[in-house]
Amino acid sequence: MRRQAVKVRLYPTEEQIQILAQHFGCARWWWNYGLNKCIETYQSTGKGLSQSGLNSLLPALKKDKETEWLRDCYSQVLQSVSLNLSRAYQNFFEGRAQYPKFKSRHHRQSIQYPQNVKQVGESLKFPGFLGKVRAKIHRPLDGTIKTVTVSKCPSGKYYASVLMEYESDYPACNTDGKVVGIDLGIKDFAITYDGEKTSKYPNPKHLAKYEKKLAKKQRIAARKVKGSNRRRKATRIVARVYEQVSNVRQDYLHKLSRKIVDNNQVVVLENLNVKGMVRNHKERDAISDTGWGAFVNFLSYKLERNGGKLVEINRWFPSSKLCSNCHYQINELPLDVRTWTSPSCGTHHDRDGNAAMNIRAEGIRMLSSFGTGEANANGEEVRPIRGRKPKMRHSSVKLEAHTVPQGQCG
Ligand SMILES: [Zn+2]
Repeated sequence: MRRQAVKVRLYPTEEQIQILAQHFGCARWWWNYGLNKCIETYQSTGKGLSQSGLNSLLPALKKDKETEWLRDCYSQVLQSVSLNLSRAYQNFFEGRAQYPKFKSRHHRQSIQYPQNVKQVGESLKFPGFLGKVRAKIHRPLDGTIKTVTVSKCPSGKYYASVLMEYESDYPACNTDGKVVGIDLGIKDFAITYDGEKTSKYPNPKHLAKYEKKLAKKQRIAARKVKGSNRRRKATRIVARVYEQVSNVRQDYLHKLSRKIVDNNQVVVLENLNVKGMVRNHKERDAISDTGWGAFVNFLSYKLERNGGKLVEINRWFPSSKLCSNCHYQINELPLDVRTWTSPSCGTHHDRDGNAAMNIRAEGIRMLSSFGTGEANANGEEVRPIRGRKPKMRHSSVKLEAHTVPQGQCG
């Protein structure tokens, strides 16, 4: 059994927008009310409230004149809130998450339908008052539809994230085949080496144009008086351009990861925490914008579906400073030095191409040592105390969004 989520754009009618607004409002109110109840219960008993404990409060609220409007909300939507709230509390108690927060009507709005949503042609059919909502469905919803989350972005667009279940599993993971090493960079987005040739993939060209536009709109919004209508309008425009920027980026990342996965069985790259930690602040800002995290996720689930493998290598690995020919390691390689010559063997290196070669070689070494269970057998690698263990990434649920990245509006 495997699960997969797909995000689709929704185009609700005016009437459906009203219904959704009502549902968002009810769900938000119930979350905040329930959270209050949890806090009170916690103060008196030291425990939170379970999902059923929360649900048992609903019938009385629906009868109460003050809160009878809750009846307009599809009841499973409210029950989903109860489930999510009790989980959020559980996660907090078990140290996995922060204390649940109250929800504001100014942020992204969302509701969940735990079941009974169907695809009908180019629409999603929801239970309750909402009914059939027109949708842009990029790929067939060919699994069993489970939970569907409907959200409204700050830009005013509506999306549904459709979680599906499949009976069949992905093909078994197999590492026989081409291995590619990838060095993620700032100047070029990625440099790959597949054992035969080095390829450079620059950041998408039109991205810079949108980023300029975004900065301009942000400046305009910042000049408006807080809380004013003009400010609200300008903020909405900013949100829209922000979506354009991330769409361009997502599209690029999807195409590049597809190409790499179609041509290779094993993909090796550096653990991303490495890069963030090792490098300086100015660069980190640039990094957060390049979408490395999303790229690794895309690679990861595309490989999983193809029966391929993603190998992440550790932070201690000096991918840039090692001569890929003789393994001589130089001490310093400032970031602005793009080419260098190995003092030991005289090979002239392009900085990034050399790093991709080293990453690939290290991945192959790791794969073979995983196979025999002797990761540190040759004793020459010393793991620093803070380094994360190299890991084979495999996850069962990944979001495939062709239009919106998960981080933005998911
Ligand atoms: Zn050398």
